[in-house]
Amino acid sequence: MTLLEDRVAIISGAAHPKGIGKAAARLFLEHGARVAILDLDEEGIRQSAADIGAPPSRLLALRCDVGDAGQCRGAVRRVAKWSEGRIDVLVNNAAITQKAGFREITEGDFDRILRVNLSGVFNLSQAAVPYMAGRGAGSIICISSLSAQNGGGIFGGAHYCAAKAGVQGMVRAIAKEFGPCGIRANAIAPGLITTDFSRTGRSDESKDELAQAWPLRRAGRPQEVASGCLFLASDLASYITGTTLDINGGAHMN
Ligand code: NAD
Repeated sequence: MTLLEDRVAIISGAAHPKGIGKAAARLFLEHGARVAILDLDEEGIRQSAADIGAPPSRLLALRCDVGDAGQCRGAVRRVAKWSEGRIDVLVNNAAITQKAGFREITEGDFDRILRVNLSGVFNLSQAAVPYMAGRGAGSIICISSLSAQNGGGIFGGAHYCAAKAGVQGMVRAIAKEFGPCGIRANAIAPGLITTDFSRTGRSDESKDELAQAWPLRRAGRPQEVASGCLFLASDLASYITGTTLDINGGAHMN
């Protein structure tokens, strides 16, 4: 069964070889979608597209800094041109982090994290919404974090936690305002996942060790977050909006 036949999806932050964005792009393509992947890292996003290996009619790779509203509008216009005006799914996945104590975070650090992790979600969503509203359908998925719920600590400081909590609030506002236009908006709050997000070079095994105290006794895999994105993007989630899906192996239960 393919869940996204002929749908057009945009996924931000899909350059890193081990990342959630790339895993989601692969899964969406397997399920019949046409996918546009965006990233700040121009060389990385080209390489990512080459690794995935789908034809140019099914996979488009663009450089885009999600913190820049003009670049987001430009990228979404280019996607719409490529897809003949159709945008069905947006996965706001791009983010950065910084491990820092509350008193060490500078004004510049705070602005930098909020610009990508919160304004970036706003910028790309605002650019995509008109295309979805025009067709009366769409699904926006925003990757938040367990840090929004538990105060972080493993690799995100207070600024990261605040941005990711802000994402959950924004998702509810989008869900409320655009539900009548057929647009659903949901967040995913991953726990510890075996990507290289914090760029510490920490091994997957050491992440599994860190997760020993949690019910499922291991860190999550990027494909397990991608599966949540697929579910929320698809019609299987047709009556789900404004929610946050926890993918954390039981590390936090609401
Ligand atoms: P990742 O580093 O592989 O993915 C983030 C991507 O965003 C990178 O490719 C990076 O180049 C890109 N990016 C950074 N700044 C950008 C910008 N300004 N514009 C466009 N792209 C930009 O890490 P990941 O773990 O796959 O992270 C994906 C998402 O999952 C993030 O939103 C992150 O906050 C969230 N998350 C990750 C974990 C985890 O344990 N890995 C836990 C909770 C939440």
